[in-house]
Amino acid sequence: MARKEHKYIFVIGGVMSGVGKGIATSSIGKILQSKGFKVNLIKVDPYLNVDAGTMNPTEHGEVFVLRSGLETDQDMGNYERFLGKDLTDEDYITSGMVYNHVIQKERSLGYRGKCVEAIPHIRDEITRRFTRAADVNGSEISVIEIGGTIGDYQNIMFIEAARVLKVENPDDVLFIMVSYLPIPGKLGEMKTKPTQNAIRALNSYGVQPDIIIARSEVALDKRRKEKIATSCSVKSEHVISAPDIKSIYEVPLNFERDNLGNTILELLKSQQKSRKANFAKWRSFVSKVNAKKPKIKIAVVGKYFDTGDFVLSDAYISVIEAIKFSSYKLGVEPEIHWLNAKDFEKKSKTNELKKYHGVLVPGGFGERGIDGKLNAIRYVRENKIPYFGLCYGMQLMVIEYARNALGIKGAQTHEIDPKAKDLVVDIMPDQKKKLEKEDYGGTMRLGVYPAYLKRGTIARKSYGKELIEERHRHRYEVNPDYVERLASKDLVFSGVSPDKVLMEIAELPEGKHPFFLGVQFHPELQARPLEPHPLFTAFIKAAISRSKKRKK
Ligand code: GLN
Repeated sequence: MARKEHKYIFVIGGVMSGVGKGIATSSIGKILQSKGFKVNLIKVDPYLNVDAGTMNPTEHGEVFVLRSGLETDQDMGNYERFLGKDLTDEDYITSGMVYNHVIQKERSLGYRGKCVEAIPHIRDEITRRFTRAADVNGSEISVIEIGGTIGDYQNIMFIEAARVLKVENPDDVLFIMVSYLPIPGKLGEMKTKPTQNAIRALNSYGVQPDIIIARSEVALDKRRKEKIATSCSVKSEHVISAPDIKSIYEVPLNFERDNLGNTILELLKSQQKSRKANFAKWRSFVSKVNAKKPKIKIAVVGKYFDTGDFVLSDAYISVIEAIKFSSYKLGVEPEIHWLNAKDFEKKSKTNELKKYHGVLVPGGFGERGIDGKLNAIRYVRENKIPYFGLCYGMQLMVIEYARNALGIKGAQTHEIDPKAKDLVVDIMPDQKKKLEKEDYGGTMRLGVYPAYLKRGTIARKSYGKELIEERHRHRYEVNPDYVERLASKDLVFSGVSPDKVLMEIAELPEGKHPFFLGVQFHPELQARPLEPHPLFTAFIKAAISRSKKRKK
């Protein structure tokens, strides 16, 4: 049963995927939050995977790890960035989770001898999750994005659960369809028919949208709004124009130009519709995004980069956004260059890295491209180019340093060669057992763990505090047996777990290198528009210094 007075807004996609349903959901959340409402955003992923952890990021986008350690869809990252707050496990629902729960319950006689079926049992489990999320978050409004597009078989149960919720609570449930209006090249005219058909498909499920967000290359004219209004039975004021714009962070402001916030509150018969929007900080952030700024060139060296740009930006979305937030704060425009690690297998190629102001190696798995990454890291260390290593990027930085600065020639990670002589990066003891049992799903070292920072280090100065909490996703670690040797020269382990076993941050001191720092965790997951991540900011600062020096 839905909590009294709690409001639910369902966001459903029409016509085709990839038109910004996630950003629309984030933006609706942002608008309502800016009007003083307590909002939680829920992502529904209709796939049967229990979580997103086992999926290939180049095909499905980044795996976004929550504070709790739950591995979720990249949209959850957008939600956190827009709302500026941490999401909970309840905010993420997959068909896999729902079915898993219902089947387990059936096995333990939880349905007391009944025949267990999609309707009502799967549907009711979905509703239970929607309402529980509202309770756990103590929110007033839930905005729920239903993954996929109308007409998919996979998301039918979720739409059905939403429909029933509406039947039971007519004033508390709202449907928004995000649709797409193509402008076919030959015709040069915006077409509304696909949207009309999408609404009809939704109607066939017994659902009438209250608001239509019309995505297109350009803004909708009055005539098109009216046409959609008449053919889809919504008021033309409830058709919101959502043209392509430069920055996703401007979308909430753009929606507000069409008065979306108040329309939602009116339709939901909210008693508190007079709350005023406070967008001042967000607005000033967006103006920084749009301002003309000097460029800095950041190279990201990785292994997936021959699959095409479209996929890339999805697989590393949090890294890209984290770079942007710190750059905007410092008044520069980052130009991100994707460099294929394979190209650096030839050492002579590494001097191409000279032209960049900073080089970053992001997280990753497996053997491909490793030699190229190691060569690139060696080059930037020796040539004093700012370097930032994330997770695998830190492990490889330590291996490179061991091999070339300390002469431990056989330095290796267990992930590539478990039999190597010098496993300076080794599998964590509890992880070994899990891999032996082929227990892969949700079993890495996941989520938030604390670390203490050493005084006088770049890490400590950047964060400006001693105790930090960062999100993790890894199976391997700097081998505790090698820590003393690794730290015998210049390398400093500036961030260490409270029990002092796990090395969380490695760096070269300021006097030795302008910025050569790696982290075992994923700082990008906690970077926010209004609160850029301190380590990204320190990295970009170092890159700016290099860009100024190179100009002289
Ligand atoms: N493959 C490495 C590990 O499992 C690094 C993981 C990562 O970069 N997220 O420890």
